[in-house]
This record gives sequence, C-alpha cells and structure tokens, in this order.
Amino acid sequence: MNTVRIRGIRKIIAVSAIVLLLAAAVLWQIPKARCFQLVGEVTCRLKTDAKLVALTFDDGPTPEGVDAVLAELGPRGISATFFLIGNRMEKFPGQAERLIAAGHELGNHTYSHERNIGRSQDFYAAEIARTDVLLKRAGSDTNLFRPPFGKRLIGLPLEVERAGYRTIMWDVEEQPEKFTEPGAFAQDILDRIRPGSIILIHPMYRHNQVARAALPMVLDGLAAQGYEVVTVSELLERTGPGS
Ligand SMILES: [Zn+2]
Repeated sequence: MNTVRIRGIRKIIAVSAIVLLLAAAVLWQIPKARCFQLVGEVTCRLKTDAKLVALTFDDGPTPEGVDAVLAELGPRGISATFFLIGNRMEKFPGQAERLIAAGHELGNHTYSHERNIGRSQDFYAAEIARTDVLLKRAGSDTNLFRPPFGKRLIGLPLEVERAGYRTIMWDVEEQPEKFTEPGAFAQDILDRIRPGSIILIHPMYRHNQVARAALPMVLDGLAAQGYEVVTVSELLERTGPGS
C-alpha cells in the first residue's frame, strides 16, 4: 500500500472514531436531558412573561419532611407540587393526605425510585400504576409524572403516555453539593429563576437539612422579586405551551 492510501484509511478510522464518540456522548446525554426526550412530551419550563414559578418537591413523603415544608408554605399561603414515591407513601401513611389537606398537589415519582432505563415495559407499568393507586387513594387527581433522577429513555416515556400521565422536569435545580450554606443555596436558586420556571428542591430526608433551612429564604426571595409561586398544574393553566 502506498502512503497516500494508508493516510486515507487512517483518516477514515479517525473520523469514524469521532462520530462514534459523538454518538455515544449524545446517547449518554439524552436520558438526563431536562427539556428533550425521544418520545412523548416533556415540560421543563413554561413560556410566559408573568412573574410566575412552580415549586416542586421530590421524594418521600416523610413525616419530618412534610412538617418542615408545611411550616414554611402554610403561613405564606403557597401551594406547591410534591412528587411522591409509592413505597414511601406506604411506609408513612397519612403524609400524602396531609399534603392534599393543606392544599398542595401530588405527582407520581414511581413506586420504588429505581433507575427506569433498560427495564421491561411491565416494570415501568407497575412502577407507575402502583403509585397511581396510592395517589388516588390519598385524594389526588392529577396526571403529573417525574422520573427518578430525571432519567428516562424510550420505554418509560411510552408507558407514561399510555398511563395518561405527563412528564414534568424542571429548569432550576438546587445544588446542595456546591452550596452547603443555606443562604448561598437559596441565592443560587434565586439567581437562576425566570418567569415560567419550575424549581426542584429535595426536602424530605435527614441529609436535606440545608434545603430545609434554605426554603424560607427561597420563598421570601421569590416574594421580594415579585414572583408568585404556584403548583405545576396552575402554571400549566396560566401559561402558554412549554419550552
Ligand atoms: Zn427522586
């Protein structure tokens, strides 16, 4: 083989390797993309000029987490959306009902909070349906779903759609690993919100102390900036199509 041909083959190999690497990178990113999924609809923020944001809390419920959040939302007259895990609802009966009684909205965050990628359709169906039964029993009538860790590829979104649910992600997520002091944690969220934002905070477990401590600062900061805090359903009702 002459040198020109060898160079040509090397070039093809190099280009192929880059293409494969890019494809792998894209495939790696897709399951955790907040505003894009391969099948079905996903909402991560709503288009609006109004100073309106939705506040969402993931995981649990736990009695301490519900206590902590209700203590801050109640006096301020704020309603929020809680994405609950089925097996936590069973472990702590009555907590979902407390949230409903206090005027909040519940969403489906699967039964076991396992990774929902590469599993069978039956697995996805059971994860959603078992939680759906518990939510309905608690008095919930919404159709909002949030995948554990925000991860989904094809099978889960297909099942979400089949079950009549709607996938709700977020555009502003807390960063507890970066901001370990409540004031900085809250300020980081306040710096990133925009009209139509969906905010995600995890307040339910013992290791979420900073989030719990930061919550009143987030709520007061939002009010100071002129933002009204609503549930996801209300945000969907009061705004245009999602972005
Ligand atoms: Zn979760």
